[in-house]
Amino acid sequence: MDTLKLSEPIRQRVRSAARVVVFSGAGVSRESGLDTFRGAGGLWERMRPEELATPQAFRAEPERVWQWYAWRFRQVAEASPNPAHRAIARLEAVFPFYTVVTQNVDGLHRRAGSRNLLELHGALAHAFCNRCGRNRDMGEAIAESPESPPVCSCGGKFRPGVVWFGESLPEATLAGASDAATSCDLFLSVGTSGTVYPAAGLIELAYRAGACLIEVNPEPTPFSRLMDLCLTAPAGEALPALAEAMERCRWPST
Ligand SMILES: [Zn+2]
Repeated sequence: MDTLKLSEPIRQRVRSAARVVVFSGAGVSRESGLDTFRGAGGLWERMRPEELATPQAFRAEPERVWQWYAWRFRQVAEASPNPAHRAIARLEAVFPFYTVVTQNVDGLHRRAGSRNLLELHGALAHAFCNRCGRNRDMGEAIAESPESPPVCSCGGKFRPGVVWFGESLPEATLAGASDAATSCDLFLSVGTSGTVYPAAGLIELAYRAGACLIEVNPEPTPFSRLMDLCLTAPAGEALPALAEAMERCRWPST
């Protein structure tokens, strides 16, 4: 996708948009090699996240869960933001109010330069104590104790700062995402099928608010019929072209 020509109605919506939300899922990180964490080979390849990403697993086998997250942390550290992350970060300069809401825990949006970022499922970059809640850097925690969760001064154990299956999403982050979706003029859904809670809720909030809805995904999703524009393509191909087309709308002289 070299250049993208937006229809005049979409161009008008892009030109007048003040508040923009980008909602991203695993598809955005696919081209960074971080789609599922399952394809890289080795000891952990056959592990199902559902078996390790739970509070029960951490209670039963803290060492195993910690080592799995240490492996994921290293995979993410070795990965780089791709053109989709960079295009999403670039658009932050184009609109007055711009929020990236992501389901990804890999931190690649931040590394690409996104600043106003809501990480709904937490971040691999942080750890916190399961007793007193104290935060610390995950990389330092792993360096200090690669085989088992480090023990906090309160006697608790440090765990990865991600939301596990069966846990609720961070309340303030979810509230921020809902507010942003409710008040946005333009909502861009990227690399997510939209079927996992709370994705569906956010898209619906934006739809009911009358926002212009744009979807970027390799396959149609249950929400495609609500969209003003669907780009059926991988995020790393479609996003740079879409960002450029939006910049041309907003800054016609450049
Ligand atoms: Zn503690």
